[in-house]
Amino acid sequence: MTHKLGWGLVGASTIAREWMIGAMRAQPGNEVVAVLSSDAQRGAAYAAEHGIAKSCTSIAGLLADPAVDAVYISTTNELHAAQAIAAAAAGKHVLCEKPLAMNLADAHAIVEACNRAGVVLATNHHLRSAASHQAIRQLVQGGAIGRPLFARVFHAVRLPAHLQGWRVHKPEAGGGVVLDITVHDADTLRFILDAEPVEAVAMTQADGPVEDGVMAVLRFDNGVLAQLHDAFNVAHAGTGIEIHGSAGSIIGRDVMTQHPVGEVRLRNADGERVIPLQPHNLYAHSLAAFNRAVQGLGAPSASGKDGVRSLAAALAVLEAARTGQRTPVRAD
Ligand code: NDP
Repeated sequence: MTHKLGWGLVGASTIAREWMIGAMRAQPGNEVVAVLSSDAQRGAAYAAEHGIAKSCTSIAGLLADPAVDAVYISTTNELHAAQAIAAAAAGKHVLCEKPLAMNLADAHAIVEACNRAGVVLATNHHLRSAASHQAIRQLVQGGAIGRPLFARVFHAVRLPAHLQGWRVHKPEAGGGVVLDITVHDADTLRFILDAEPVEAVAMTQADGPVEDGVMAVLRFDNGVLAQLHDAFNVAHAGTGIEIHGSAGSIIGRDVMTQHPVGEVRLRNADGERVIPLQPHNLYAHSLAAFNRAVQGLGAPSASGKDGVRSLAAALAVLEAARTGQRTPVRAD
């Protein structure tokens, strides 16, 4: 039988508009069947703009639709947990945006609800789906730089005006650069290093009610020290990641991005070479893994547990910045 997956969009969001609707429609058998918005008029306009048959104003209404097999949750962060748990209880598979929740208890509750219901849960950490980060992981895990010792992540960007709403003005919606960007850094480093962050130190910068810049160091359980620089207010820094090991260094430039771009170089005793990449759409790549997981053919690219772990690291960074103390990363 042909695989079919009907998506309900929970949240009439920018990320769905810019990336996810197209990436869903690129999957064989996938259809976007409904969208949930708290505002009936905006929801209807969003549905019309994107050729979605139905818009709803209640999650119960969306989940009652038998054409909805899976939900993609891209509301503001304080809403993710209740919506994910409701979706699991209705037997729908869940692809949830990062951060999974605002606190670890809620993130664990999402994982438990999805386990109980026997549905797939994935976290939309797109960077591990990038050809660049997959190549870096392969180099590191294949021993190309010897023992990994240090990492540096450059993820300071200027938020485009249309994304500056709740992210910079609403702490209660999960605004701030740490829950927005540092979570991605943590997940990407976990993926590349195959290691868990265990301790954080950090300082933040804030012009408004939430932090818009952070410099942090994470210690991983394999000994790696990772330096992170994330910001909302830096227009020209460019992004990148570096992994430095006992026998070589990997330099990734322009790779902390939604776009399938960037360059990866390996430097070691043999000299320096550019690693050939075959770039692909990051979100479509994750959705392909999600589709396979729904069919019982493997795991999503970032699981619920991955979402819990990246949130735990981000919360430790926030706590370290607040207290000025070295802070353990606790995922339980
Ligand atoms: P948006 O601000 O675009 O959407 C969030 C919510 O805001 C929507 O659910 C919608 O509410 C409301 N909203 C949207 N547009 C308007 C408007 N014009 N007027 C009033 N309200 C509006 O958020 P993003 O798409 O930037 O982010 C959503 C989630 O996705 C977050 O959790 C974020 O962290 C994550 N994200 C992940 C990315 C990734 O690459 N993995 C990239 C970007 C974001 P309603 O649904 O009620 O209509």
